[in-house]
Amino acid sequence: MKELVVIGGASAAQSAAVYAARAGVEVTIVADEYGGQINNTDVVENYLGFKSIEGPELAKRYVEHMRDYDVDEMLGQKAVDIRRPDHFEVELEDGTVLEALSVIIATGGSRRKLGVKGEKELSGRGVGYCAVCDGPLYQGEEVAIVGAGYAATEAIDYMTDIAEKIYVINRSKGYSGEEITIERIEDHEKVEHWENSEIVEFYSGDQLLEGAVINKDGEEVELEVPGIFIEIGTKPNSDLTELIEKTDGSRIKVDSQMSTGVKGLYAAGDVNNKGVQQLAVSVGQGCIAGLNAAEYIKEHRQ
Ligand SMILES: Cc1cc2nc3c(=O)[nH]c(=O)nc-3n(C[C@H](O)[C@H](O)[C@H](O)COP(=O)(O)OP(=O)(O)OC[C@H]3O[C@@H](n4cnc5c(N)ncnc54)[C@H](O)[C@@H]3O)c2cc1C
Repeated sequence: MKELVVIGGASAAQSAAVYAARAGVEVTIVADEYGGQINNTDVVENYLGFKSIEGPELAKRYVEHMRDYDVDEMLGQKAVDIRRPDHFEVELEDGTVLEALSVIIATGGSRRKLGVKGEKELSGRGVGYCAVCDGPLYQGEEVAIVGAGYAATEAIDYMTDIAEKIYVINRSKGYSGEEITIERIEDHEKVEHWENSEIVEFYSGDQLLEGAVINKDGEEVELEVPGIFIEIGTKPNSDLTELIEKTDGSRIKVDSQMSTGVKGLYAAGDVNNKGVQQLAVSVGQGCIAGLNAAEYIKEHRQ
């Protein structure tokens, strides 16, 4: 029987693992991969103590820090179910079942998709979900970015150093995100803002993206670009168990102690319904969940 199983491989999970290990409980971390969303982020400028740090470098430091403690790592493993006969059972994709006294879900979020014609077929062939990861492939070319929120504004800002021109496909008007980023992109000479615009379908030539049909303010137009990034935020990876309640459709409901309401089961970071989706928050919530799980384990260990 394991004491604590932490599911996830990024800021919330690794923070929880560090705090729980320091509190004296045995920790097992189960992650399909390490790094999470920040691994696909260009530069982080709002994480206290680091005026500017590349996302992958910060992700690497989280892992190094966690490895200072005696944490049992199950990397390359995806959890698919959590049950609770009396203690917890965490089932992994390969069929392994881990028994545990307490579990922390820190599975974060995945990129949202548009769900329009041609998207699936052309994904990875010109249609992408991470400008920071694949943007450099379009050096000196024209690209489009779909979205106008936090993820999109960061992506547009990043692409202004790479692309020749960036068409922004925004289904409403204006941007939301960090004011400092919005100011940088709003009047940028390379950025063309298409408001009230939505992608109707993607089309290809020779199996690669050739362009998209766009409903631009009520009129269908074609935009020919070799790369289109869909940057419309993330959806929580919360489909892990029937045990918990979710709010606003998909985030795991927790209280201020990161408890899901099922005793011994906690959720931290972007996967839950508390706070904003930022690193400082996920690290803080990982701390709360880790310490509360440790307390719970000490009360329930034989
Ligand atoms: C483009 C972009 C830019 C951003 N920039 C900033 C920024 O500048 N500053 C800032 O503070 N925040 C930023 N954020 C937000 C920040 O990245 C998130 O708030 C943070 O990564 C949340 O951490 P998390 O640990 O909750 O989840 P995630 O980072 O989503 O990590 C989830 C982890 O769980 C693993 N996992 C998922 N499901 C399973 C499963 N079933 N089994 C095992 N493992 C699983 C994943 O592989 C991953 O390792 C940005 C986000 C994006 C998308």
